[in-house]
Order: sequence, then C-alpha cells, then structure tokens
Amino acid sequence: MRTNILIFSANRSATPPAKVPAVYELTINWHVTEACNYSCQYCYAKWKDYPNPRELFHDRRRTRDLLNELFRYFHPTNTNNPLREELSWKTVRLNLAGGEPSILGNRLLDIAEIAREVGFQLSIISNGSRLTRSMIKEIAPHLTCLGISLDSANPTTNMEIGRALRSGKLLDPQELAGNIRLALKINPRLTVKLNTVVNLLNVGEDLSGLVQEIRPQRWKILRMLPIVDASLAISDEEFAAFVQRHRAFQSVQCVEDNRDMCESYLMIDPFGRFFQNHPSLAGGYLYSDPILSVGAHAAFSKMAFNSASFQSRYTGELGGTQ
Ligand code: SF4
Repeated sequence: MRTNILIFSANRSATPPAKVPAVYELTINWHVTEACNYSCQYCYAKWKDYPNPRELFHDRRRTRDLLNELFRYFHPTNTNNPLREELSWKTVRLNLAGGEPSILGNRLLDIAEIAREVGFQLSIISNGSRLTRSMIKEIAPHLTCLGISLDSANPTTNMEIGRALRSGKLLDPQELAGNIRLALKINPRLTVKLNTVVNLLNVGEDLSGLVQEIRPQRWKILRMLPIVDASLAISDEEFAAFVQRHRAFQSVQCVEDNRDMCESYLMIDPFGRFFQNHPSLAGGYLYSDPILSVGAHAAFSKMAFNSASFQSRYTGELGGTQ
C-alpha cells in the first residue's frame, strides 16, 4: 500500500492505469451548514440555531448547480478526474453533514430531493436532536445510510462535551432508537451508522449498552482530531484501550486514528469549496476556490489527498474491493 500524498494536477493524464483499487461507492461529504444546535468542544461548528445567510444551500438554483457539477465531475466514467488514477468506483454518494444538517428543516428535504434527482446515492450524518418522526418519514426513503453521532451514554459527559441544546436538553437514546426503527421500517435497505469521537471526557466509558440498543451496521470510532481544540486530546494508549474495550463490536467497527483522517475525505464546505484538513496547515484547513466559480476540476486540482488512507477507508467501510 502506498503512503504518498498526492496533489492532483489538472494536467495529469486522463487515462487511468489498467489496474487500480476498486470500491463500490465514492462518498462526497457536503457540510451544508456550519451551524449546529450542539456545542461540542472539539468541533469547528458554531453554536447557532440559524445558519449563515451566505451559505450556499439557501439558494436552490446554486444548490442544484453545485450538485450537478459534483456529480458530473465524480461520475465513475469521467476520465478527466485524476482521482481515477488511484481508485475506481461504481456509484457516488452525497453525505449531508454539518454542523447539524437537520436544523435546515424543509430545506434539507429539498436538498435531498435535488440530490436524488441529480443521481446521487444519499446519506446524512446527524446528532439526532432534530430527527423527529415527521422528518424521518420524509427523509428515510431517500437515504442509503443514516449516520448518528453519539459520544456518550452518560448525561454528565454529554453536557461536558457540549452535546446538549442550549436549554440543557440531551438526546434521549430510547427515542432515538425508536426513530431508527421507524426509519428501517420505512426503508429496510437503510444502513445505520454510529460515529463516536473518542476524547478525554469519554475515553474511559463503556458504550456497549448504547451500541446494542441502536444496533448499527457500522460503528465509526474516531480519535478526536486536535485541530480546533487540543485540550481533550488523548494518547495512543488511551485510544487503543477504548477500541479494545469494545472489541465485541469488532465486526462493525471502523477505527480511525488521527493520521487516517488527514487529507483522506472528499469534503465540500457550506460555501461550495473543497476543503481538506491537515495538522500542519495554519487554521487546520485548506480551501479551494468556489466550485461554481472555477469548476470542480480546477478547484479539485489544488487539493491534497493521502491516497493510501483514502483507499483504505473505502475498503474498510464498504466491505472490500468490488
Ligand atoms: S453535534 Fe457534530 S456538528 Fe454539532 S457541535 Fe457536535 S460535533 Fe460539531
């Protein structure tokens, strides 16, 4: 496995090599808003109930233009995409992330419909706080994957992390489990995923009961990335002990240490730019020009990717090549 970091160049050959690793699905993460109704200490999201009016999702036409451009550029048959030199894939999934995407309410449902019309498979990652039964009924039919971020089963820990509404209201695990059952009833092919960010406040916890209740098909365990705030960072040994404590869920676990996360996601920010993380970058993130101004190809050519981590995530998450 190579460990090189690539900066894709617009001038690279358009012809992919005969043999490249193959995965079923390529995932593009669109962080539709920076606003979130939670305030996790380790997160860049702003604790706001209302998104920035300049965020692109407000404009339906620009939203459709952005999604069309992304779908065209990352379509598996687009020979002009240099990523094809590293990977081949069969379908493209748009993952709606934030901030907290569910605070968009009806606009989120509208974006979901546009994304499906454009041709994307669709998923969402949410803190669950606004995934009401009525929203689940509307959005579940569009989704192939429903991701929920859960860090702790302990109310005190959730409060300390910042996983609570301004009013102090916490997520009710029973209510969440009921809503997930409803989503599965509406869409039995839905994959349910949990994301847990392991940090100083939850590193000693046993989440087995919570995971058994939700019964996810995938459980992503991420070591907190100390880009925004290093005060909750944990050691290698602490992270390994957390993973080991939950080895009973090994078959669904997808473990990501900090080095696995760097430059290994395809991410679009709320203003329609590619962005990428790396600890050596000032401010933690590198941004491209706006995709709608320069086109996906020119914007993507400025992005660096760790191709080894990129490939191994897809291989690990999606059940292997082909
Ligand atoms: S719930 Fe997610 S987006 Fe919101 S503050 Fe926490 S980590 Fe950030």
